[in-house]
Amino acid sequence: MAMKGGMGAKMVSCDCGFMIQSPSENEVVKMTQMHVKDTHQKAVSSGDVMKMMKPGMMMK
Ligand SMILES: [Zn+2]
Repeated sequence: MAMKGGMGAKMVSCDCGFMIQSPSENEVVKMTQMHVKDTHQKAVSSGDVMKMMKPGMMMK
């Protein structure tokens, strides 16, 4: 199982260098799916996004 690391933000960095970061896991999943669909014409499941997800740094 993935660790629920730290507090707050989650981030995903795509192979293309695009980074998504949000305090909301759901939002990261949604934004990653949108990015992959728009930019790479591919679909990722939320499970795939979860696997890509890392603890992010809070930013304002
Ligand atoms: Zn990408």
